Amino acid sequence: MVTANNEVHETVNVAVIMICDIHGKTFDLYCKTHDLVICVAGLLSKHKHCSDAVISLHEAATYAKTSTALDDVSDSVNDTLDNMKNFINNRNVAMQNIEVQEQSIRKFIGEIRTNLNKHLDKIELSELYTNCKIKEWKSPENIS
Ligand SMILES: [Zn+2]
Ligand SMILES: [Zn+2]
Repeated sequence: MVTANNEVHETVNVAVIMICDIHGKTFDLYCKTHDLVICVAGLLSKHKHCSDAVISLHEAATYAKTSTALDDVSDSVNDTLDNMKNFINNRNVAMQNIEVQEQSIRKFIGEIRTNLNKHLDKIELSELYTNCKIKEWKSPENIS
């Protein structure tokens, strides 16, 4: 076993002995039909019709590891993780796109502002503007 800090530990196998409450014998067997650990006496009484589905606990451990149900769960967890990674990537790309768009819009507005100012300067200095001032000044006469 390798832990997070890369120290290598020997796996200690602790034998967990479970005793059947009803028969007082150790659970040595596993019934696949009822999804239960059972003792020999249990096999002979309650699970005598399940004999085809009864395996040793050792086999049961291997069965759990190779179980297709477990594989399916593992696959769907991996699929979900992949989907989440894709989702996060897509969001990051979208955020970058928004930033780029915002920058180009700001630049565009800046250019329009500069051009508008130049244009207004031109109008102020032009003859047209001077003529307007004269007309305005003359206008009271025209109204009366
Ligand atoms: Zn039992
Ligand atoms: Zn059974």
